[in-house]
Amino acid sequence: MSGLKGIGVSPGVAVGPVRKVINIVSTDAISASPREIFDALNKVGEDLEKSAATIELEVAKEVLSAQAMIAQDPALVEAIAARLDQDITYPDVRADVVAAFGGFKEALLAIGGYFAERAADLDEICNRLLAKLSGTESEGLVLNSPTIIVAEDLTPADTASLNLKYALALVVEKGGPTSHTAIVARGLGIPAIVGCAGVMQLADGEKVLADGRSGEVFISPADSIVKERQVREEALRARAASVTGPGRLACGTPVKLLGNCGDGDGSVAAVSAGAEGIGLFRTELLFLDSVNEPSVEEQIQMYRTVFTPMAGKRVVVRTLDAGSDKPVPYINAIEEENPALGVRGWRLTRTSDGVLSRQLEAIAAAAKGIEIDLWVMAPMINTPAEAADFAKRARAVGIKQVGVMVETPAAAIHADKVLAEVDFGSFGTNDLTQYVMASDRLDSRLSDMTSTWHPAVLRTIQIAASAAGNLVKPIGVCGEAAANPHLAAVLLGLGVNSLSMAPSAISEVRGFLSTVDLATCQAAAQRAIAAISAEEAELHAKEILEGAFN
Ligand code: PEP
Ligand code: MG
Repeated sequence: MSGLKGIGVSPGVAVGPVRKVINIVSTDAISASPREIFDALNKVGEDLEKSAATIELEVAKEVLSAQAMIAQDPALVEAIAARLDQDITYPDVRADVVAAFGGFKEALLAIGGYFAERAADLDEICNRLLAKLSGTESEGLVLNSPTIIVAEDLTPADTASLNLKYALALVVEKGGPTSHTAIVARGLGIPAIVGCAGVMQLADGEKVLADGRSGEVFISPADSIVKERQVREEALRARAASVTGPGRLACGTPVKLLGNCGDGDGSVAAVSAGAEGIGLFRTELLFLDSVNEPSVEEQIQMYRTVFTPMAGKRVVVRTLDAGSDKPVPYINAIEEENPALGVRGWRLTRTSDGVLSRQLEAIAAAAKGIEIDLWVMAPMINTPAEAADFAKRARAVGIKQVGVMVETPAAAIHADKVLAEVDFGSFGTNDLTQYVMASDRLDSRLSDMTSTWHPAVLRTIQIAASAAGNLVKPIGVCGEAAANPHLAAVLLGLGVNSLSMAPSAISEVRGFLSTVDLATCQAAAQRAIAAISAEEAELHAKEILEGAFN
């Protein structure tokens, strides 16, 4: 074995010995009374609170506090109590405890998406409880020298118990780009790779190179590889740091670089990162955080927290994209066989029409009195009729710039007619890729199929981008693809005119775009769409794009 490949989720290059984190779960019988179980559960909650208080990393702190709250939720105690008589010491309570947690977990998994990912928190709490009851709690892995941490998956508690000062990189076998490992690694600013099959077969102490940009793990890397990757990483960072101001290509062509956000904090982060506005305001957060539909007044207040920091700039608001990977329980109440293809996004006007009307009213009202250039778009628009319906309703409340996300193959292929109904388009490359490739974007087993580099996806984008060009209407990208500097350049070469991404990606994209002119982007795009695979497209495009840099 000379190398492994996963998904790079936090850029950087690290070289060092592997240290495996192995969670051994004992299956021995656990004798306890219900009282002892509740005391132990309470203690687990307290331990989690303590870890939350001591860990410095903000994202890990938040997750640990949330887990502490779950552990101390009276409903959990009730679920366990319902299975056991009081005043008896049972010879083995393991199955009952696991079943009580299992009921909660199923409920989260049934909701799906973000909630399903949080089901892992319940496993973590359950394991901690069983370990406490059986007296097999470990002290955590003690790291006292620089190490590349390798695990099946890392829970927030693992990361809390690890001395991350010595973590050079994190590489895990499971997990996707939204897993805790990815979030924690980005927060720490260290390289991370998720979904890396075979990594648990590495031996402790084995020297590896982890490239969090490409997702590659080199085993016993040659000095030449180490040097090449390190030099390259340094050069990429230096390039990013050297360019400031509005986005533009080497030939002077302006490219608006916008930030994606979900709330006021995200908007402030986008300003600090030098974003020229917001290119995708995901409005789901407020709805996900409430048990009922937020009132128009509540929505207005929340939208203002995003608009205010962006005074003088463009803000593209996306109307509610509830459903599929972002289910909102009180809106997506009907169980669907196939939620990604079901009633989500703008399609909710079929079942919850009032929600979208109230939201449009709130968006228009929130922008009053704040000097922003307000653009509003709807997700999952599929047909010209849907685009026309949305445009009519948005204009009726006074919204001037009305657009659609292009994230279904139908909308892209038929873009000449769909975009004719509105003022602008924005590619949602996350969904467009999953639908063109018929591969679930959340399933790490299909990560090789969900690359926007695939020529089939790029060709679909080209169709819609040239339709927008013919109609002289702006079209941007607001999916993850915009955050990859080479792919961003290819997208510009295909006819896209603005890019919106996580604020943390802006400086690197800006730095890279300043080194290439439009003709080079177009040449790279042509090479990429002529390729036979995502890998080949990326390789060929990079050869052209990096020609000037090397
Ligand atoms: C997309 O699909 O690319 C997109 C930006 O929307 P979301 O990721 O929120 O579905
Ligand atoms: Mg989408």
